[in-house]
Amino acid sequence: MLVARPGVTSATEWVAINACLAPAAALAGQEVVTSEGLGTPEVLHPVQREMAVRGGSQCGYCTPGFICSMAAEYYRPDREADGADHGEVHGPNGFDLHALSGNLCRCTGYRPIRDAAYALGTPQGGDRLADRREEPPDAPEATEFSDGERTFVRPATLSAALELLHRNPRTTVISGCTDWGVEVNIRGSRADCALAIDRLPELRGLVVTEEYLELGAALTLTEIERGLDGRVPLLAELFPQFASRLIRNSATLGGNLGTGSPIGDSPPALLALDARVVLSGIGGEREVPLADYFTGYRQSVRRTGELIKAVRIPLPLAGLTAFQKIAKRRFDDISSVAIGFALDIDEGTVRRARIGLGGIAATPIRAYHTESALEGQPWTRSTVLAAAGLLRAEGTPMDDHRASSRYRAAMLGQSLLKLYARSIEEVVA
Ligand SMILES: Cc1cc2nc3c(=O)[nH]c(=O)nc-3n(C[C@H](O)[C@H](O)[C@H](O)COP(=O)(O)OP(=O)(O)OC[C@H]3O[C@@H](n4cnc5c(N)ncnc54)[C@H](O)[C@@H]3O)c2cc1C
Repeated sequence: MLVARPGVTSATEWVAINACLAPAAALAGQEVVTSEGLGTPEVLHPVQREMAVRGGSQCGYCTPGFICSMAAEYYRPDREADGADHGEVHGPNGFDLHALSGNLCRCTGYRPIRDAAYALGTPQGGDRLADRREEPPDAPEATEFSDGERTFVRPATLSAALELLHRNPRTTVISGCTDWGVEVNIRGSRADCALAIDRLPELRGLVVTEEYLELGAALTLTEIERGLDGRVPLLAELFPQFASRLIRNSATLGGNLGTGSPIGDSPPALLALDARVVLSGIGGEREVPLADYFTGYRQSVRRTGELIKAVRIPLPLAGLTAFQKIAKRRFDDISSVAIGFALDIDEGTVRRARIGLGGIAATPIRAYHTESALEGQPWTRSTVLAAAGLLRAEGTPMDDHRASSRYRAAMLGQSLLKLYARSIEEVVA
C-alpha cells in the first residue's frame, strides 16, 4: 500500500509499505492508497497500464505489491525523467529498480516488470497523487481504540507515552512493526495494549551539532538515508544492504536496537561509529554507550518503562569506514555475519580503530582485541594479516542454518583483508 508521509524534497511523499506488517489501527488518520485505488478499470493508472501491456502480471499474487512500489517510485519527486542513464539499476527515466525490492515474482520473471518500470513517464497535470505532494500529509491522530479485550494507543507526546508505560509496564511498544508484525503473523503474538510511538515528534529529530549527529529512534531508515544523503559513509553503505526499500520505509533504528537481536544490521555499524543510545523514562533521560547497551541474548540495560529516544554519533567521523554484510543473498537477507569498521589512519599509522560485529555472539560486540592490535601500528599488509588472525577468533560464532561457526570466523578474517584491499585501491585511484 501507499501511505502519505512527510517528504524530504516535497511536503508529502507517497511511501510504499508492507500492508501485511502494519496494524490497521496504526494507519488511523493517515492517507492510504492501495493498488486498486490507483486507477479504475476504465482509466488505468500509468503504472497499472504499463504492467498490463508488458505482461508484468501473471498469477497476480505479487502484482499489488509491485504496483504500489512502482507507483511510489513513479511519484518520487527527485526521480529524474531526463533521459539520463544512471547505471545498471536506474532506467533511462531515472527509475531506481531497488524501489521494487522486497517484492518477489515467481511467474513472469522480472524482465517484463522492469520493462514496465522503465517505460513510465512523469505524472501529467491533473494527477491527484502528484498534486497531493505539494501539501503536508495528514498527521496520524492521537487515538485510543479498545475492543474491551485489547487496546491500541497512539499518544500525542513522548511524556504521554512514558506515562502510559509507567502505569502499565506490560504495554507492547510498536514502531515500524517490521519485527513485531512478523511476531503477530507467524507466531500469533498479540498485545493486550499496543503503544504506537512511530510518529512521536520527540523521537523523529535529525540533529547535527558540532559534537554529534542525533538520529531519532522513530525515523524510518529511508528517512535517515535520505536525510543524511551520504553524510555518514558507513551508514550510506549499510542502508542498501538492510532488507528492502519496502522494509526500510517502516523500519526504525529504535526497533532494530529494541529487538536486542544479535543479528540486527545497525548495531555493528553503530558500534564502529562509537554511537551512544539516548534512553528516556518518566524520571528523565540518560545516555549509554552502545558498547555497554547489550547485556545478554536479547537483553539490554534499557529499564522497564524506558524508550530509546535517539542514537548519537560523535563527530568528527573516522576517515576509513566500511560495512560488510555476509549473507546467503546479496540483498534482502538476514546477515550471517556483519562487520562495521571505522579506522583513523594518520600518516600511514592506525591512530584509532573501532570494529563492531554482529552474528558471532549472543549480542552484537566490539572486536576489542583486534582494535588494540591495530592501534599504533602501520596500516600495512603484515599488520592487517596479524590482526585478521585475531579478528577470526573474536566472539563465539555458532553453527546454524545460516552458516557454520568456521565459516563465520573465516568471514571475519576476510573482512579486514577486504577493507585493506579497498583502502589501497582508493589510494591508488
Ligand atoms: C522481510 C524483512 C527483512 C528484514 N531484514 C532485516 C535486515 O536486513 N537487517 C536487520 O537488521 N533487520 C531486518 N529485519 C528486521 C526489522 O526490519 C528490523 O529489526 C527493524 O529495524 C525493526 O524496526 P521497527 O521499527 O519495525 O520495529 P518494531 O517491529 O516496531 O519493534 C521491534 C521491537 O523493538 C521495540 N522498539 C521499537 N522501537 C523502540 C523504541 N524507540 N524504544 C524501545 N523499544 C522499541 C518494540 O517494542 C519491539 O520489541 C527484517 C524484517 C523483515 C520483515
